[in-house]
Amino acid sequence: MKSSNISKPFTNDSIESCQSAPSLNSGFKGVQITQEQGQREVFCGLTGIVWLHRKIKDAFFLVIGSRTCAHLIQSAAGVMIFAEPRFATAIIDDRDLAGLADANDELDRVVNQLLGRRPDIKLLFLVGSCPSEVIKLDLGKAAERLSIKYSDSGVRVLNYSGSGIETTFTEGEDACLVSLISQMSFSESTEKKLLIVGTLADIVEDQMARIFNKMGISNVCFFPSRLSSTLPPLSKNTFFILAQPFLNETAKGLEAKGVKRLSAKFPFGVEGSKAWYKAIATFFGVSSTVFDEAIKAPLERALKAVQVKKNIFQDKKVFIFPDSQLEISLARFLCQELGAEIVEIGTPYLNKKLMELELLALPNNVPIYEGQNVENQLQRCFDKKPDLVVCGLGLANPLEAKGFTTKWSIELVFSPVHGFEQAADLAELFCRPLDRHDRLKSLNTVETGVLN
Ligand code: SF4
Repeated sequence: MKSSNISKPFTNDSIESCQSAPSLNSGFKGVQITQEQGQREVFCGLTGIVWLHRKIKDAFFLVIGSRTCAHLIQSAAGVMIFAEPRFATAIIDDRDLAGLADANDELDRVVNQLLGRRPDIKLLFLVGSCPSEVIKLDLGKAAERLSIKYSDSGVRVLNYSGSGIETTFTEGEDACLVSLISQMSFSESTEKKLLIVGTLADIVEDQMARIFNKMGISNVCFFPSRLSSTLPPLSKNTFFILAQPFLNETAKGLEAKGVKRLSAKFPFGVEGSKAWYKAIATFFGVSSTVFDEAIKAPLERALKAVQVKKNIFQDKKVFIFPDSQLEISLARFLCQELGAEIVEIGTPYLNKKLMELELLALPNNVPIYEGQNVENQLQRCFDKKPDLVVCGLGLANPLEAKGFTTKWSIELVFSPVHGFEQAADLAELFCRPLDRHDRLKSLNTVETGVLN
């Protein structure tokens, strides 16, 4: 994990500001957005390997990094030592750093050894890290060289950066998908197709496919696909819809190929899922009757399951620190469906174009902070005394020690939370810390009573 005070130049339609003077944006249709810069507390992009390696089942992720990188991935993925995971770290050691060894030779040797042992690998990602960027190892050139070398064995080699120097952790997936776009073929097909973009758990994909089936929609593909050999082809009649809010560069990459985006809220919670499916149904010209019938059963189940959790959030204040880039959608779910009061939303980067419909669904008075100055943000958190703080792992324990109840935001990315069937699980992820807090409080009261 890292804490960094290096600011990323704001892309999209953001405004740059200096650390000492946060700048107020003119607002987004009534929502007030403040840009802030300073020390940040986030995980790096290597973390994405944890869910990407489970998704693309014939891919291997080789991090070119330090022992710190290796420890991060090993502990985040929680893989047992005797398992054969589809990720590893090629450690850059002192000899590489001192220029005593040719890092490219070392890399070729490691890749050769790896591919010799694992014939199941069809796609190898060379994943850059802070150390590989510091020694300026050109992984793009290495990937090209190795792709040619192993083309006869049917192995493709790509590269992307998971470095924590300028990124937050969900940007790892974004960078990985951008590298995959280069492998997608482009045809002159006139068939109307839709890509669902963003890594989803297989079980969620299957649920979605069943609903599309009921709507009579068959021309839908998921990207990334479960196997690297089945990447969906693109054409000027392909459209895409995002399932994850943090795929800014992937969206740009697809648009650059002439693939158009469908706008929708993200499929989190009942309302988000309904709006997301509705956008797809409208695109394919599905009638309201067919749409209503297709979502009826899962919608009813989700409404009933979320309703049970609603009472827990009445009069509860939630403070969201910037971490996963899911913050805006989750805040919308928390206030719209659970009735929580959101006292602040922090998000590392805000792409107003992609988040337009989510921003419109937020109450006007919610302060949104883009970027982070962690000291200032902690002070605002202390002042607002929220009942629940959603934050990264690095802040959670210190905040718990100060008496705050916290939810690790990374868990919201690791867990399947998309769609109707997962709406109650998503609510449960926020309920659990509040429940734990109440139980600890009652336990303390009993113990205090006994001692007295
Ligand atoms: S990529 Fe950078 S921030 Fe991430 S674990 Fe390696 S050294 Fe740390």
